[in-house]
Amino acid sequence: MYCPFCRNRDSRVVDSRLQDDGSAIRRRRQCPECGRRFTTMETTSLTVLKRSGAAEPFSRSKVITGVRKACKGRPVTDDDLALLAQEVEEAIRSAGSAEIQAHEIGLAILGPLKKLDQVAYLRFASVYQDFESLADFEKAIGVLRAEQADAEQVGLQPAPTRA
Ligand SMILES: [Zn+2]
Repeated sequence: MYCPFCRNRDSRVVDSRLQDDGSAIRRRRQCPECGRRFTTMETTSLTVLKRSGAAEPFSRSKVITGVRKACKGRPVTDDDLALLAQEVEEAIRSAGSAEIQAHEIGLAILGPLKKLDQVAYLRFASVYQDFESLADFEKAIGVLRAEQADAEQVGLQPAPTRA
């Protein structure tokens, strides 16, 4: 494994541990050249099957690229996108399948993106779910409004009083 700091071709493992859910092994490595430490994760490979029938490895950066377009001009940071991609990958991996359909990734993106930014969510959903008319947007906005109203109602409920 190349050192991500100085590109040295060698590194040594200083610590290995299994993730709590058993889905990955986390290794702390140290570069003998520059002395810096970094973490690697060993997981089963996750294959994405595209509509064309082609298969490619799951890539967080592709998730980020897809979502970033929808977030143009929105107050969404690179950290937000990295976290979202991580959430998406964790959700997909937790399903426990080694192969997934490309459209399932889109589906896994919608939830976390809705929490992150509603405008970006609508943009992404309009492409992913093939919105064809204003009515499709109106429907999606209606769902967002209803969810928001529910959330506000929960927030307004008085704390339970004790007798
Ligand atoms: Zn190094």
